Amino acid sequence: MNIFQYFILLVFLLKIYYELMKLKTEHLPGIPVPVFFRRNRRARRIVVTTEHNCVKVSVPLWNSYSQARDFVVSIATKINSNIKELTAKGVDTQRDVNMRLARMPVEAKKLADRFVYLAKKYGFKYKKLTIRNQRTMWGSCSSSGNISINIALAELPGDLRDYVILHELVHTKHPNHSKRFWKELDKYTLISSKITDRKLRDYRITQWW
Ligand SMILES: [Zn+2]
Repeated sequence: MNIFQYFILLVFLLKIYYELMKLKTEHLPGIPVPVFFRRNRRARRIVVTTEHNCVKVSVPLWNSYSQARDFVVSIATKINSNIKELTAKGVDTQRDVNMRLARMPVEAKKLADRFVYLAKKYGFKYKKLTIRNQRTMWGSCSSSGNISINIALAELPGDLRDYVILHELVHTKHPNHSKRFWKELDKYTLISSKITDRKLRDYRITQWW
């Protein structure tokens, strides 16, 4: 092998090593759900995100996994109370489901009205609005300008509901998540839309039917 081939081999091995190091799952003392650690080149500090069934940890390159682990264990009490809160939000009794179904026509109408109001206010053109109850998406916009919004938006705080509607409306102009898309969206929102987008991840989509 010549020096060039050695170099390629070295890069290749480093890449495999890096991939292996990227994700780790652990069960830590005092935390009832699995903890996923992920290397993140862009992270400036150790970032912990709690979900109802797992904890996700972004680890910057300059922190070791054991530092990240110690950090997670040190905030176990906070994580546990977050999990409790998220689980409480997520429990639906049959009564909840029935009540939602009864309210559905009214809530769907309210959502549609809000959508039409915001579209008109900011001069957006769209083809058709459909209100659905998708499992994973708050909203979507097709390339031909058909917009779907989730009935579950009815249960979000008003600023988040408006954020999702405006997000989909801006997609009629920018069918991607480019810099220009976020810049345009920021024109219509009071606080940075990227921050609101992150806030939205704390909310679960409820199934209405
Ligand atoms: Zn989008």
